[in-house]
Amino acid sequence: MENRPIYLDCNATTPVEPLVCDKVCHFLGEEMGNAASRTHVWGTKAKQAVQAARQQVAEVVKAKNDEVIFTSGATESNNIALLGLAEHGEASGKKHLITTPIEHKSVLEPLSILQERGFEISYVPVGEKGWVDPAELKKHLRDDTLAVSVMHVNNETGVIQPIGQIAEVLNDHPAYFHVDAAQGFGKEIDPLQNSRIDMISVSGHKIFGPKGIGALIVRRRGFKRIPLQPIMFGGGHERGLRPGTLPVPLISGLGEAARLALISHKEREQKCLVMRKEAMEALIAIGGIINGDNEKVMPHVLNISFPGLDSEAALVALKDLVAISNGSACTSQNYEPSHVLEGMNLSEGRIQSALRISWCHMTPKVDWSEVVSAINNVR
Ligand code: PMP
Repeated sequence: MENRPIYLDCNATTPVEPLVCDKVCHFLGEEMGNAASRTHVWGTKAKQAVQAARQQVAEVVKAKNDEVIFTSGATESNNIALLGLAEHGEASGKKHLITTPIEHKSVLEPLSILQERGFEISYVPVGEKGWVDPAELKKHLRDDTLAVSVMHVNNETGVIQPIGQIAEVLNDHPAYFHVDAAQGFGKEIDPLQNSRIDMISVSGHKIFGPKGIGALIVRRRGFKRIPLQPIMFGGGHERGLRPGTLPVPLISGLGEAARLALISHKEREQKCLVMRKEAMEALIAIGGIINGDNEKVMPHVLNISFPGLDSEAALVALKDLVAISNGSACTSQNYEPSHVLEGMNLSEGRIQSALRISWCHMTPKVDWSEVVSAINNVR
């Protein structure tokens, strides 16, 4: 590749593992069948590939194969999980949902749509540490609470939410528990294996897999399926919940990415931790203030503010050196103050000077002294 800066924006999207690329190409080329074709070997091979991938995704969270619904990504999974419950909520008179102000827009916006439809949404406040307090969440539970939606790992700060403790709070409440795990699936394994979590949203391109593929894992409660309705119509694929011809190459790629995540997550984590230590040492020494709880954060993310810095100016100053961001890629077309940092009640100065730096096990070594000089030059 021509002389590019070092890519430090892995929370926006990760590079793809070479073995994943091989899988995708194989099913784009030689094995190009339709998994729904019943009458020939191309169909059989494609169907087998989908089944294998379903199992690989299920294994990460100890779900059953038939609990995995392939979607186009976590945005769609979040939409199905929330909008798909509306009919049941209306029929059962349960029209209250609980979430947090730091969720991804693909959770917050479907919830706004439900609100327009007559549902009530409670937002559990999140403090400066960037995680939701399960005891605080418990206070919002009501008899008519239909669902609770809390993310696994925040995409801007990398802060890990106490999913296990929230599951415990919900043990004696029937509300459905949805977790947007786009940033944590395949990285932090244990919490998502908790069987109290009813629905888990997954994204391929955050785990070194392809873009345009994801999954919604919908666990059964005993023998009972969750009363989800589809939001698209036109075919019986994916148990009627997500119609459309299955993108076998992408699904195979996601399966391979899930398999690799399960066997390599510890090793990847160790590599990321080394970089976090180096980055922190260099950036705190020039007055950087970490945003979010440094004790409960993923090892590949650093959200850091520099008093007096204009983050947009810093991005420009750093652009030949490192590719970073100052918020979520989904909303970065126009600069708007981060709703996540606002949700954490950080000061305006801290929000405007925040940089999000995120890397992975494939990231080459960074010369942090160069980064430090570039930041100092624009302060
Ligand atoms: N949720 C979170 C927390 C995310 O970080 C993202 C991606 N930025 C999404 C949902 C959406 O995922 P996708 O790109 O697969 O639609």
